[in-house]
Amino acid sequence: MQALQIYDGQYHIAKIEPHSFVDGEGVRCSIYLSGCPFSCPGCYNLHAQKFTYGERCSDAVIEEIISYCEADYIEGLSILGGEPFCNMALATEIISRFRARFGKAKSIWVWTGFMFEYLANDQRRYGMLKEIDVLVDGPFVDWLYRPGIPFRGSLNQRVIDVQYSLRIGTVMDYM
Ligand code: SF4
Repeated sequence: MQALQIYDGQYHIAKIEPHSFVDGEGVRCSIYLSGCPFSCPGCYNLHAQKFTYGERCSDAVIEEIISYCEADYIEGLSILGGEPFCNMALATEIISRFRARFGKAKSIWVWTGFMFEYLANDQRRYGMLKEIDVLVDGPFVDWLYRPGIPFRGSLNQRVIDVQYSLRIGTVMDYM
């Protein structure tokens, strides 16, 4: 099946990092959703390419994730993979529970191998995109890898202010 046709993956989660200092601004709760069809050479998270890696997520695990975000010093939730936009039943459930609990008081960052422009024009994926604050987009390209560039692995990837970009209809960098 082609990447564009994989929407819901297997509802599996690879890892939860309750306190991350590298996946976005501030201290954040990071979650890694399982399954990615892109097979980028040099992928930083090879095992999470498999859609059944880790465990099938449950209500209790989602509640645990939300509870990790409660502390005042947690700025928000970061969703990585795998490919969150190919595991959308799970990603959108977590996002909607997060927004129900925190509204816009805490932020959501998402890492994806898709390009922003594609996501904005795919009806179902747009539904998830519009709930996100910051998107790091594009596949990892190993010959464009540079160590130490904030929040991305290779130079082709962009750190995008999603809400502003959607409002004005063109991609605006968050930083
Ligand atoms: S998009 Fe990310 S998780 Fe998927 S293969 Fe590429 S680097 Fe790995």
